[in-house]
Amino acid sequence: MRWGKGRRGRGGKGMGKKMGRGKGSKPPKKLPGKYFENLRKVVMESICCNCAACVAACPVKGISITSYSSPPYFPEWENNCTDCGFCVRVCPRWDYVPLNGLGNYIEALAVKSKRFSGQDGGAVTEILVSAMERDMIDFALVVTKDENWRPIAFLASSVEEVINASGTKYSHAFPLSALKGLRGKGNERIAVVGTPCVVSAVRKLQSEMGKFARKIRFVIGLFCMENFYYPQLMEFLQKRDIDVTSIEKMDIKKGKFIIYPSDISFPVKDLNNIVPSGCKVCQDFTSVQSDVSVGSVGSPDGFSTVIVRNPEFLSTVKSLNAEFGDVDLDVVEKLANFKVKIHPVK
Ligand SMILES: Cc1cc2nc3c(=O)[nH]c(=O)nc-3n(C[C@H](O)[C@H](O)[C@H](O)COP(=O)(O)OP(=O)(O)OC[C@H]3O[C@@H](n4cnc5c(N)ncnc54)[C@H](O)[C@@H]3O)c2cc1C
Repeated sequence: MRWGKGRRGRGGKGMGKKMGRGKGSKPPKKLPGKYFENLRKVVMESICCNCAACVAACPVKGISITSYSSPPYFPEWENNCTDCGFCVRVCPRWDYVPLNGLGNYIEALAVKSKRFSGQDGGAVTEILVSAMERDMIDFALVVTKDENWRPIAFLASSVEEVINASGTKYSHAFPLSALKGLRGKGNERIAVVGTPCVVSAVRKLQSEMGKFARKIRFVIGLFCMENFYYPQLMEFLQKRDIDVTSIEKMDIKKGKFIIYPSDISFPVKDLNNIVPSGCKVCQDFTSVQSDVSVGSVGSPDGFSTVIVRNPEFLSTVKSLNAEFGDVDLDVVEKLANFKVKIHPVK
């Protein structure tokens, strides 16, 4: 296994597990009161990343997505929170230490699917579809959208559903809420796609809760500089007279937020005011804890940059029905370092 050049990420599998605390034990509270109140005050009011791992973990199913513009919430927590501590145990932002850099990797390749078009090279869709075709997984946790670009996270159970969910939605989809209610003993095999914070949350779910360790077979991490709350992104676009229903694709490239097919673009910095506080503390650009990371930068147009971290995935990736090329990892590392610079640890 090689290390990324330059700044070394503090990533790696199992990093989500807290040292010095036995598996299964409750973490110390930071405030008196129930665990949900701790989570709400310490994390949700300031640095929540909207992964919704707490929604998936809450055994009484009390935590839910109550709005597209705020973190998950437990409306009846005073009465119904059983103080079990699972929401805190799986939260990637509790005792948060930012990860960064390129992280551990085995190989990086530029990948363009021969079958599917996607946001870039369709590599994520190709990997997920191949995993279904090879009977490695039953479900893929992906994010689709409605006609107004509202992101919808769901467990895709067919190749068609995975293909229909291709493309980037630049909005918080609270993806791990789609794992809520999975039966404990069921033997579903699931792949998850998510931004770096979601990947960290999956590692916590796996280290803290046996059912997720069994069910989640691999995690594809997307590169990510920032994400947005859906209502705020829509307001930004509407103020610029953009008819959201006519948008076929949104992209961020070379400092510009671009809308297709109109080709209207804005400097990404125009969106700075609507970057959620939870994104402003994140330094992980490449999803260092994933099995496979996929992004846009570093590869020619029409290709995805694929960084293989888990050795078991190298043969899977190399046997994809795809064209392959070289990756410029220096560019990826430059952006990874830029994210650290704009989000210094306070
Ligand atoms: C919020 C966000 C910010 C990003 N920022 C950058 C960046 O700064 N630089 C860069 O190089 N790459 C960035 N990416 C990654 C890039 O946009 C592509 O997703 C990546 O290159 C994969 O392209 P593809 O053609 O292989 O994927 P596709 O085959 O098109 O598949 C994309 C997959 O992503 C999933 N997805 C879409 N939106 C979301 C979402 N909001 N949350 C979770 N999963 C989602 C879909 O379900 C689908 O499975 C970002 C992605 C997201 C979601």
